[in-house]
Amino acid sequence: MLELKNINKSFNGRPVLKNVTLTIEDGKTLAIVGPSGVGKTTLLRIISGLEQADSGTMIWNGKPTTAQAMRKQGIIGVVFQNFELFPNLSVMRNITLAPTLQGVDQQQADATAKKLLDQLALTDQEKAYPYSLSGGQKQRVAIARALALNPQILLYDEPTSALDPLLRENVAEMVNQFKASGMTQVVVTHDMDFAKSVADTTYHVGKGGDDQ
Ligand code: ATP
Repeated sequence: MLELKNINKSFNGRPVLKNVTLTIEDGKTLAIVGPSGVGKTTLLRIISGLEQADSGTMIWNGKPTTAQAMRKQGIIGVVFQNFELFPNLSVMRNITLAPTLQGVDQQQADATAKKLLDQLALTDQEKAYPYSLSGGQKQRVAIARALALNPQILLYDEPTSALDPLLRENVAEMVNQFKASGMTQVVVTHDMDFAKSVADTTYHVGKGGDDQ
């Protein structure tokens, strides 16, 4: 369980996040919602250690921690809004690069990647390069890449926004399947229908929470 308490963040003296307090429960899906510009991505970046809060605390399984420490421990995996795949690497290498840089041997990394590609219906795309993939396939590669590092929490930034509306349901299905397998997930979205279809709890940025 990850708890955030009284997280504050300003940019150039302008407060964006004010006393954000929320809990990410094991095995549950939390939706972080709110209109454009309210600070959702900033909050996601703070949770994932890509941005530092000005003040506030983070507690991981009952112990105080920092976003940087959690990042180093690989606790959180992120699926970025535009997927951010490496264009010059094959699907396989996109997934195995980070694990091998972290010391996992190539054979082991390849075996894990193959398993993930299989689970995400991407087996035939192993040797493909990102430019040849559909939006949905790119997203699944981005998910496989995040999962290859074996995170305890998977965080998605606007997972429906770069996709054809028809694919939105597939994403909801995927998130719910991961939940059934015990994954803890955080979905940042402005899409309330999508949030409703996946979330156990919802946090409204800018309104000081909701069901939390
Ligand atoms: P959207 O749904 O449009 O992505 P959001 O809710 O995710 O919006 P953020 O991207 O977190 O909002 O931005 C919140 C506010 O903070 C915006 O006004 C934005 O301009 C500002 N902001 C975000 N990052 C920075 C930064 N690095 N430097 C200065 N201002 C920033």
